Amino acid sequence: MLIDIPRSPIDALTEQNIANSGYVQMEVKRMKIVRKLNPKNVNIDISLEEIGNYNLGYISENGEFIVKYIGRSDTCLQRRLKKWARSSNYSHYTFRLAMTIKQCYEIECREYHLLSKQLDNEIHPGSPRFLPNFRCPWCPQNMEIPSNLFIINRSDI
Ligand SMILES: [Zn+2]
Repeated sequence: MLIDIPRSPIDALTEQNIANSGYVQMEVKRMKIVRKLNPKNVNIDISLEEIGNYNLGYISENGEFIVKYIGRSDTCLQRRLKKWARSSNYSHYTFRLAMTIKQCYEIECREYHLLSKQLDNEIHPGSPRFLPNFRCPWCPQNMEIPSNLFIINRSDI
């Protein structure tokens, strides 16, 4: 078999490579302010009807924020986080505002694939409610296959 399957973006973003990836570093920086999860902090941090991503978790004994749940809100991040503050045991959160629903969705998908081993999330992020055609760019079945992969070596036929 001569066909070589390209490395998926997930492979490229293994934990080892995260530190070398400018893109991910940028995202981590944007979400680096870890806040105690309570309605008061959420009100201070986020205006009504902002959309964006959030991480929920706790602080480990050595002071590290351990992400246990990732999510997004395509309608109102403030309302969503206040709901979590009232109904969950996660003690801390980080957040990132998004410009578009597509960006919000793709960031959530990427975080899901990167951190899936440690997350409480049981299912893959769903497509935005009014934009069901958006697909996760990190799922192998949605990746574009370069056209040169269809070249078949004649000796194989
Ligand atoms: Zn996916």
